[in-house]
Amino acid sequence: MPSNGASANPFETAKQQIDIVADLIGIDAGLRAVLKAPKRELTVNFPVRMDDGSYRVFTGYRVQYSMARGPTKGGIRYHPQVTLDEVRALAAWMTWKCAVVNIPYGGGKGGVVCDPKKMSHGELERLTRRYASEIAPIIGPEMDIPAPDVYTDAQTMAWIMDTYSMQKGYSVPGVVTGKPISLGGSEGRGEATGRGCAYVIREAAPHAGVRLKGASVAVQGFGNAGSVAAKLLHDEQGAKIVAVSDSRGGVYHADGLNPHALEEHKRKTGSVVGFPGSKPISNEELLETKCDVLVPAALENQLTERNAGNVQAKLVAEAANGPTLPAADRILFERGVTVLPDILANAGGVTVSYFEWAQDIQGFFWPLAEVNHRLEQVMVRSYADVHRIATEHRVHNRTGAYVLAIQRVVDAIRIRGIYP
Ligand code: NAD
Repeated sequence: MPSNGASANPFETAKQQIDIVADLIGIDAGLRAVLKAPKRELTVNFPVRMDDGSYRVFTGYRVQYSMARGPTKGGIRYHPQVTLDEVRALAAWMTWKCAVVNIPYGGGKGGVVCDPKKMSHGELERLTRRYASEIAPIIGPEMDIPAPDVYTDAQTMAWIMDTYSMQKGYSVPGVVTGKPISLGGSEGRGEATGRGCAYVIREAAPHAGVRLKGASVAVQGFGNAGSVAAKLLHDEQGAKIVAVSDSRGGVYHADGLNPHALEEHKRKTGSVVGFPGSKPISNEELLETKCDVLVPAALENQLTERNAGNVQAKLVAEAANGPTLPAADRILFERGVTVLPDILANAGGVTVSYFEWAQDIQGFFWPLAEVNHRLEQVMVRSYADVHRIATEHRVHNRTGAYVLAIQRVVDAIRIRGIYP
């Protein structure tokens, strides 16, 4: 079972998506098999000393899906239900995501089976440092560059950077991205995923028949990606945030909720639940609530055959990875709902990670305005590319994004040739 508790296997979903594109653009069986097989997978079982003096053995994974276009890049997830298949799927999606926004990376992903909410700071530090040591032989600025994902953050990256640097004997800031600014992190990385998502929503809104000023927006998962997208849509586009949720439940107000006040409430209480003046709403209800724009920003497999017919939004922007099952995609497309697929809608994070890595390698850092300007250029160009291809092939945006991405990866594989 993947880390959201749903039964669908995300790696099967990832492979189905490759087949859809391979049929459409005529990729032969050999290359199809290459595209469906993760290049390198490492499973590590390692002990961690807990605060009470006992030892516990944890399992972690690092999957390097494709290196055809450059070093692999992708986050590390801490969650009790992480599985190897989930990590494979996330690594495949990273491959396509880096190709959609045309940054010179392949895709990778990592995960550790653990419940970070039940671990102390010290236990998490020891777990992170030991996991980093275990995967150290296969990571590095020229090979595989981890980043934060669900329940990992800048502190986690700092520990990984320090552990890797201790082993090398010198500082290697470019081994991870999403680091604190003081260690070679980039301005703007913290909010890049939500910011990139807000840019593509802005670009797509006119094509989806949505006028963002005054438009109603529902956000599932008020974490890093979801809260930033909500704030920017509210502050810069004049949208109304009518519903938000987190793992404990959701809140609703037809006239709009202030995302800054919500953030403060979540900071104080640990959840958006109970926000003054709001009505409670379940995560399931939120997906079907009346709104113009729906932003799934939590975990996988949220939009399914069962609820896709009830989605009322005109535009769905996938800040999360893999929130929509293929059957739901078809239903949404037939109903005329515009979906901005994850590999485009949340690619702002990896784009600024790429900027961070480039800055670390140069040892020359850019101001926030430059980071945001370059991010905007990448997202605007990438949306235009995806929209053009989807229109040309008369397919939905996800297929358009996959055609663009897979074609780029296939071109790299073909021109490099199969070794030896
Ligand atoms: P996060 O941990 O900051 O936030 C996740 C949020 O989702 C939290 O508020 C959590 O309470 C909520 N949540 C968890 N389970 C839920 C459930 N069942 N229903 C509703 N809400 C639930 O994580 P994040 O970094 O914002 O990542 C969210 C999604 O965005 C993930 O799919 C992640 O892979 C994707 N993503 C993140 C980045 C990034 O840079 N942070 C980049 C690309 C993609």
